[in-house]
Amino acid sequence: MARFCRRAGVPARAGMHPQQEEAERSRMTQHQPAIDLSPRTSDEIRKTTCYMCACRCGINVHMKDGKVAYIEGNRDHPVNQGVLCAKGSSGIMQVNAPSRLRAPLKRVGPRGSGQFEEISWEEALTLATDWLAPIRAEAPEKLAFFTGRDQSQSFTSFWAQAFGTPNYAAHGGFCSVNMAAGGIYTMGGAFWEFGQPDWDHAKLFMLFGVAEDHDSNPIKMGLGKLKARGAKVIGVNPIRSGYNAVADEWIGITPGTDGLFILSLVHCLLKAGKIDLEYLTWYTDAPCLVNCDESSDEYGLILRDEEGRALVWDRIERRPRCYDKPDVCPDLGGTWVNEGIEHRSVFQFMVERYLSEDYAPEAVAERCGIPAGKIRAIANELARVAFEEAFEIQQEWTDFRGKKHKVMKGRPVAMHAMRGISAHANGFQTCRALHTLQILLGTVEVPGGFRFKPPYPKPVEAHPTPHCKSQPGHPLDGPHLGFVRGPEHLALKEDGTPARIDKAFSWENPMSAHGLMHMVISNAHAGDPYKIDTLFMYMANMSWNSSMNTKGVMEMLTDKGEDGEYLIPRIIYSDAYSSEMVAYADLVLPDTTYLERHDCISLLDRPICEADGAADAIRWPVVEPDRDVRGFQSVLCDLGARLGLPGFVNEDGSQKYADYGDYITNHIRRPGIGPLFGWRKGEDGSEQPGRGAPNPEQLQRYIDNGGFHLQHVPDAARYYKPWNMDYQDWAVKMGFYDVPHPYLFTLYCEPMRKFQLAAEGHGERQPPEHLRARIKATMDPLPIWWDTVEENRGAEFPVHALTQRPMAMYHSWGSQNAWLRQIHGRNPLYVPTKIWEENGFAEGDWARVTSPHGEIVVPVAHMAALNENTVWTWNAIGKRKGAWALEEDAPEATKGFLLNHLIHELLPEKGDGLRWSNSDPITGQAAWFDLRVRIEKAPAPDPAESQPAFGPIASPVGHGPKVNRQKVG
Ligand code: SF4
Repeated sequence: MARFCRRAGVPARAGMHPQQEEAERSRMTQHQPAIDLSPRTSDEIRKTTCYMCACRCGINVHMKDGKVAYIEGNRDHPVNQGVLCAKGSSGIMQVNAPSRLRAPLKRVGPRGSGQFEEISWEEALTLATDWLAPIRAEAPEKLAFFTGRDQSQSFTSFWAQAFGTPNYAAHGGFCSVNMAAGGIYTMGGAFWEFGQPDWDHAKLFMLFGVAEDHDSNPIKMGLGKLKARGAKVIGVNPIRSGYNAVADEWIGITPGTDGLFILSLVHCLLKAGKIDLEYLTWYTDAPCLVNCDESSDEYGLILRDEEGRALVWDRIERRPRCYDKPDVCPDLGGTWVNEGIEHRSVFQFMVERYLSEDYAPEAVAERCGIPAGKIRAIANELARVAFEEAFEIQQEWTDFRGKKHKVMKGRPVAMHAMRGISAHANGFQTCRALHTLQILLGTVEVPGGFRFKPPYPKPVEAHPTPHCKSQPGHPLDGPHLGFVRGPEHLALKEDGTPARIDKAFSWENPMSAHGLMHMVISNAHAGDPYKIDTLFMYMANMSWNSSMNTKGVMEMLTDKGEDGEYLIPRIIYSDAYSSEMVAYADLVLPDTTYLERHDCISLLDRPICEADGAADAIRWPVVEPDRDVRGFQSVLCDLGARLGLPGFVNEDGSQKYADYGDYITNHIRRPGIGPLFGWRKGEDGSEQPGRGAPNPEQLQRYIDNGGFHLQHVPDAARYYKPWNMDYQDWAVKMGFYDVPHPYLFTLYCEPMRKFQLAAEGHGERQPPEHLRARIKATMDPLPIWWDTVEENRGAEFPVHALTQRPMAMYHSWGSQNAWLRQIHGRNPLYVPTKIWEENGFAEGDWARVTSPHGEIVVPVAHMAALNENTVWTWNAIGKRKGAWALEEDAPEATKGFLLNHLIHELLPEKGDGLRWSNSDPITGQAAWFDLRVRIEKAPAPDPAESQPAFGPIASPVGHGPKVNRQKVG
């Protein structure tokens, strides 16, 4: 064996003199390269918040020579605790992307051509002001202002409200409003930003319809914890990829049948008596009494006292009593007959409905694509873990009735769901069904179950109602979006027609809590319900992957009337990148990238809290833009001042907020409450969380703390939040509510019953005749399921077609990213074995895919782990030639494709003379996943490009370099 010298690993020769050894070593090492084994990685670390997807992890941005050198996860951050995904670390290529817009643009060619000239900001803002000021003075509703996946909705809605237009919303209507609204209406919050599984205690975790991108790092970290503890994970999804690929059990359900499957589980649990009666009695509306007199104006409504509080049957005093009395003893089986009118408990209605054999596993198995035995086995497993593995945490707490509890009881079954179950026309009721299942098992807000993240839970009553009254020269009469309690809150004009361009909160979709962004362009094009003047959009790629009927939308944006003018007269668009939508704007306001601006991840908006802590965060300019671009929110501060909008000007008419950073620091939404809740100023001048005056040092405090502020939930407040007075009092102190707001979970959604009553002929506001039957059928106060196949001509189009977003790319955001493009530069259509073999497909083949609306020709790939009647592909990989600074022969533009071409915003004709909207009839959520298609083998197109192929658009930023070299320092 060779003897080694002490240094440099040079083998010594036996018998060599030390001086000879040294000389030999010197001879051998003098020609070796000098390697710095511990190079200086950065001059400085700047801590901010990632925006490569909507999870908003904390990141450490390493700077070298003034440039971003690399990005790592922030170990102290509550969201990711140091974990960073591929997208997050690729942020360095986002901030250097060739597709970044460089300066304001004014259209010089026809719309859609991509021909622009660069103009100054002064010219751009003067032009925008000249367009918008007359609208505000004469008819504010002629501005439609819609934002996409930005995270500043409390700010942009404030701007729109000050402008006075009723036409504002963000992207929720085409994303997952069913999930959000279903959760709020049922239990005061839903998944992701609203709540999370109790990763530390759950023993059984069920995921429904969750693609890989949603709640990305937190779910990956949580799954790691579950797996380490041996907890079981069940994934319910037609496609086995991402989280479903690592699940212990995969249920490849037929798309659109989740609600039926869930209600079958409810059936099994009720039949077996495996439900949490104690939980239902004390924390839900299950014992509340419902009017059963069909002739009454109040038929189906909850019995209430004079102050409007729900009444339950008290089993001791044998009379109806208010649900929150300290000594009340609610009876789940209570019935009260008064003056001939019978009232029965919600629980009785539920039992009657869900014990029906219509929900028996054998009755639903074929439709759901899940064997009856499997449904029963899952119901048994849920019951076993919830009740036989129940446990206690030794923590005292006090409920809203004043009762002290010595322990917190745990039921270790947690669930999570997302867009896969909600983007269907039956999605709202399906989401409600899922929450009903959770509540029956008693697994919400208990140890081991699903937990809310502050500032949630927030019942419907703690949210605003929608407002729509606009007057020339005045702000709107209140916030645009909210939660209707009944027909009285619909956004209707005096003549009963919709007040909003997207027809949100109209009889067509009464509970459209997030608006219907996907209907804005088609309604504006049709002038239905009225014409608009200016379409103003932010971060919404509506001429491509964010619209149904993509080709049709391009035509709507470019169509002209008989007078030769565009039917949508003006389009202002803001984006950081040269997306497909840029080509359709008349004026482009270039935004910064996420590392170049101030942002506020606010508790007033879509927060980043954890179940055990309230948190908010900022972004700040860790690098200065090297182009003539401005953060969109700062531009709105400027534009708001130029337009003289209240809230954006001082008393002397001068600009109130110099930029968005100034707004974040100094804006006051309610007394003591601003966009950020950390380091506010107390009356004595000290800094404090929650309520307080603006603090000029606040942003710096956030920067010094790593970009976020975190307040831990007190131990006694960690669970049972809706009913826990320790939590309620803490929430008031932090400013989430102004007064404590305990409430009951809502198994029976009374606002829905009020809409049914209107459809049955009761009340002043009633729906038009053609909508009565649909409202009666769909707005059932207890969750129901209906099939959407027939209305999508399922008999002629036998295959379901879906999209999912990949883990490594979020929407279009990664398309210009040199690293991420290498992971997903093209997308085949994945075909299950049965369809693959029926069609004789082989690798490299192409298929023609036809829907009731259109046809595409695309490459196919075989995937066995897929529901046998479903095909799918990745979302938004396909790109239009000329967009995103990509070369025209880029794989995204030739082999990539969109399913959007097959989907229309209206359903196929049914022969009733009407074209019904392709959305949930309750919330208006776009029913992307109800798509039905036919598939057949097709010859490869010549050239071999996915069809339809659209002509190239001119790129206002040129194309990226042929070779991309990135070296910092
Ligand atoms: S999960 Fe999203 S926010 Fe977190 S590091 Fe990845 S891209 Fe960034």
